[in-house]
Amino acid sequence: MFLTESNYYSPEANKEFLSVSQYKDFIGTWAKPGCEARAMAKLNGEWEEEVTTAMLVGSYVDAHFEGTLNWFRIKHPEFFKKDGELKKDFEKAEQVIQRIERDEFFMLCMSGEKQVIFTAELFGAMWKGKTDSYHDRKSPFSSIVDLKVVKNLHERFWVKDLGQYVSFIEWWGYDLQGAIYQLLEQAKFGGDKVPFYIAAADKQKVTDIDVIGLRQGDMDNALVGIEGNVKRIVELKAGLVEPVRCEKCDYCKFTKKLTAPISTDMLIEV
Ligand SMILES: [Zn+2]
Repeated sequence: MFLTESNYYSPEANKEFLSVSQYKDFIGTWAKPGCEARAMAKLNGEWEEEVTTAMLVGSYVDAHFEGTLNWFRIKHPEFFKKDGELKKDFEKAEQVIQRIERDEFFMLCMSGEKQVIFTAELFGAMWKGKTDSYHDRKSPFSSIVDLKVVKNLHERFWVKDLGQYVSFIEWWGYDLQGAIYQLLEQAKFGGDKVPFYIAAADKQKVTDIDVIGLRQGDMDNALVGIEGNVKRIVELKAGLVEPVRCEKCDYCKFTKKLTAPISTDMLIEV
């Protein structure tokens, strides 16, 4: 299957290719545990994740920099009040865009090629990835840049398993995204990996912006254990093994079937 702008997100493409977000659905991030049953239900069109306002605000800013904002506005009439004015949440998106556009370096980062689709075989599966801004190998600024709109750039997230705080980068698994995008790009052009940057803006009262260069060591670390995980995902997608239910996520709650009473302490099991 040849991926284009119009079939990139299609169910067929998601079945044939693994993506970073799909991988996270199966395996999880610090922010959100994975669930094989939910991930498979999404692939089969039996479950749709709720689209939050925060996600829409991010998509609005993405669409602006992709140059598809007009199309996005038609697709999402919920952005507007009856008088045609933008709703408050999306005024924020406009504010973020205007702040970004005032910064020369941020704009330089965003000036690469938009929506470049990469595919390659990695760890025993075909992967797909699409860049927000790609500066090719001839460019003096050769890099892959991903745009993120977050609540607060400096927010710290407590990870119990690590016994430490992490930034939004590790929390949402963007180090893994960087690692995979580097490999996809390298599979096509060879040579060394190109740097991966997160160009980020936040939604605080006064928007803060930064371009964050991910450390190569952190991205390499994010790939630890990926081979076994991909093998499992490939088997699940091929229907060779049964997906395990996490029994905690919304999908598992929605599809749960009771067979017997539970004991009191099971209610507060951690
Ligand atoms: Zn689940």
